[in-house]
Amino acid sequence: MSGDQGDRKDRKPLTHLAQAGRKPEWTSMPGQPGAIVNPPVWRASTILYDDVAHLRRAASSSTHERLFYGRKGTPTAWSLADALTEMEPEAEGTMLFPSGVAAIACALLSVLKPGDHLLMVDSAYDPTRNFCDKMLKSYGIETTYYDPLESVSIHHFIHEKTRAIFLESPGSLTFEVQDVPAITALARQRGIVTLIDNTWATPYFFQALSHGADISILACTKYIVGHSDVMLGSVTATPALFPKVRQTAYLLGQMVSPDDAWLASRGLRTLGVRLNQHQDSALHVARWLADQPDVARVLHPALPSCPGHEIWRRDFSGSSGLFSFVLNGGDEQSRAALIDGLAHFGIGYSWGGFESLALPVDPARYRTATAWQAEGPVVRLQIGLEDPADLVADLDAGLARFRKARG
Ligand SMILES: *Cc1c(COP(=O)(O)O)cnc(C)c1O
Repeated sequence: MSGDQGDRKDRKPLTHLAQAGRKPEWTSMPGQPGAIVNPPVWRASTILYDDVAHLRRAASSSTHERLFYGRKGTPTAWSLADALTEMEPEAEGTMLFPSGVAAIACALLSVLKPGDHLLMVDSAYDPTRNFCDKMLKSYGIETTYYDPLESVSIHHFIHEKTRAIFLESPGSLTFEVQDVPAITALARQRGIVTLIDNTWATPYFFQALSHGADISILACTKYIVGHSDVMLGSVTATPALFPKVRQTAYLLGQMVSPDDAWLASRGLRTLGVRLNQHQDSALHVARWLADQPDVARVLHPALPSCPGHEIWRRDFSGSSGLFSFVLNGGDEQSRAALIDGLAHFGIGYSWGGFESLALPVDPARYRTATAWQAEGPVVRLQIGLEDPADLVADLDAGLARFRKARG
């Protein structure tokens, strides 16, 4: 089995997921190429050399995917990185990070310098905003937030210092789908780099680089790992941008533990079947919620009630398991009555694991360019791999508690 780059455009996504990153030299004993199905966990800090000449040779040539020193990784991490690269046909390579936020921070630092201007989508993940407002600001990099529903009108915000546009589509609280091809085409004409947080769809449902983005970021913590037990991030970039991303990651000393990379590779093998099931179950629950009188709106990209639904239909090949709904009236306390009594939903941050989660979300707190307006409080659901009929029954009882508390 080879991770041969030449045929990656011909394989379908499920085939990629089964085969990617399994180079024979990483899965072999002498004389038995490719004998082991998965690259094992190679733990290393020190790498030993035959002699001084060997040591010198290693230091003077590229250390990418070559044993050099533990911080540059071992085949366990390279296999995962290669597999993620193979999921994006336009990609040159992928760097791995100890969390999604670390991946976002490194991607931004690799394209921005003091004096530059960044356009950031107003629906971005809150820690991404914090990085811009605290860290980038202190380095003299200015951020302007823009409405996720703007496409070419975004040009009003661009000036001679604008170096990068950051997208997140859909946003992970309110699920506006962005016009990625339009924004990235406009950016490219003006020599501006585009970065996208593609955590919701993953390359399984949306190949961000094929839709024009230069850099695609994943919180692998979510669907790639898929089992709520590892923190990990990735940055995948085009040939023009990858060397800069790699250099910045090396300079910052970023790397991942081989055990975590191995668990993420294990997760990746089932990403397709998991996402297909998350999709079906989430749609089942979302459509049921849309029919309930206590629900004002369901914010799920695959439903027409979601802003940007038409763009989702045009660009995405599927939808994952995370969406929100807006309650009809009610307040903090009646929303808590709904969530607190749920039997099958955990209450907690994160998502993308096999188990369902419910979270109260307050989008108005995380907006500056746009005003969040809604008929009532918002609940975000991660639909896991439980039977959706159980989840619907649980939510039905939750809505009854909500009505009672609302009065
Ligand atoms: C969770 C998340 C991140 C950050 O990932 P961590 O691994 O938790 O640092 C980034 N973007 C989105 C959309 C997320 O949901």
